[in-house]
Amino acid sequence: MTHVFHRNPKQQLDFAVRGEGIRLYDQNNKGYIDASGGAAVSCLGHGHPDVIRAIKTQLDAVAYAHSSFFTTQVTEDLADFLAQRAPGDLDHVYFVSGGSEAVEAALKLARQYFVEIGQDTRRHFIARRQSYHGNTLGALAIGGNAWRRAPFLPLLVPAHHVAPCYPYRDQLAGETEEQYAERLAQELESKIQELGPENVAAFVAETVVGATAGALAPVKTYLQRIRQVCDRYGVLLILDEVMSGMGRTGHLFACAEDGIAPDILTIAKGLGAGYQPIGAMIASSKVYNAILAGSGFFQHGHTYMGHATASAAALAVQQVIERDHLLDNVLARGEQLRSELRDVFANHPNVGDVRGRGLFVGVEFVQDKASKATLDPSLKTHAKLKKQAMQNGLMMYPMGGTIDGVHGDHVLLAPPFICTPDDISEIVNTFAATVNQILPA
Ligand code: PMP
Repeated sequence: MTHVFHRNPKQQLDFAVRGEGIRLYDQNNKGYIDASGGAAVSCLGHGHPDVIRAIKTQLDAVAYAHSSFFTTQVTEDLADFLAQRAPGDLDHVYFVSGGSEAVEAALKLARQYFVEIGQDTRRHFIARRQSYHGNTLGALAIGGNAWRRAPFLPLLVPAHHVAPCYPYRDQLAGETEEQYAERLAQELESKIQELGPENVAAFVAETVVGATAGALAPVKTYLQRIRQVCDRYGVLLILDEVMSGMGRTGHLFACAEDGIAPDILTIAKGLGAGYQPIGAMIASSKVYNAILAGSGFFQHGHTYMGHATASAAALAVQQVIERDHLLDNVLARGEQLRSELRDVFANHPNVGDVRGRGLFVGVEFVQDKASKATLDPSLKTHAKLKKQAMQNGLMMYPMGGTIDGVHGDHVLLAPPFICTPDDISEIVNTFAATVNQILPA
């Protein structure tokens, strides 16, 4: 019997005992291609010598020093690295230990910003239905999954939801991308008006949706139109790039591709690439300066913020990605992955959509391609696919669930940035074999 309180106590888990490049190995020395980087985390694969060396060097110097007593050079250098490359005036990096903490800090900073500038009626958050922002109470409140929220509803901050940008399902026949983006921006505008702009603090969205919809990227002008609506009503824009940021889409910051910058941005997974737990919230100068000019103190904090060893790991990860030009590989291998998936599934009746940006790729399964009717939820296809894939030595990230009455089965593929063309073809072949076992064509 295990004494670990596992997330799913009924699930029998193997032991990960070794990691090497794009593979993990279990207690029987069986190898698994980590085609999802866990949950889009392990962007450098496993056992990268340069990252391990940087961690050991930092451990020999100082593992941890509490942030109210000291800063460390690696934490300062990591903040410089990120601020110099972040879009707009996102210049102030607040380090935490993961994604939910980053989102939580973003929500509290948005709220405190309005208190500082004398607009303290602004306490409502607007987010999107197809979204995941984490499991702490604030992050859970804004997340789109009603099932996750249900038991905790009495505890949650005021949050409201509008439609995500989901062209495969929601762009109307005959509607251009611009018209679709405009329609969604109008929906946000109506929601702000309904709540009263003086009551709305922020709109929160994942730049590219990850965990709830399999690499769902917005149409071209969507985020620009959203940015305009937020500005019109003095509402802050928070972009959650916990999953899609740090090069996953082929750009260090995913929103750079959309040509906009948010007021607050969150990152985590790929930042430390799994070598250490680390996340960050990056605040714009506009927001940061309002805190400085007001109380001068952000009323938030954690014991492990700015952790020295975590900072050293993340700095090394980011330096390796830049030194080895890995984002070029992300773009090229991402194109290859989508194109090979589309080819192999061209005639598969249950593969409705292959989408994404860079090495952030989603596959949506349907009952019927023409009507896009979803698979029967009771079949739990996504869970069966995951189990079969593990038997076949492939890790991929499955998602299923009912959001606003619409069921969906998706798989997220997020292979490490170091993948070769042959690795990608092997992933596609193993994945296709898995799909054909569970959903014979
Ligand atoms: N935001 C997004 C977009 C995420 O994908 C996740 C994790 N899947 C989180 C926040 C929460 O991050 P964590 O699990 O590290 O708390």
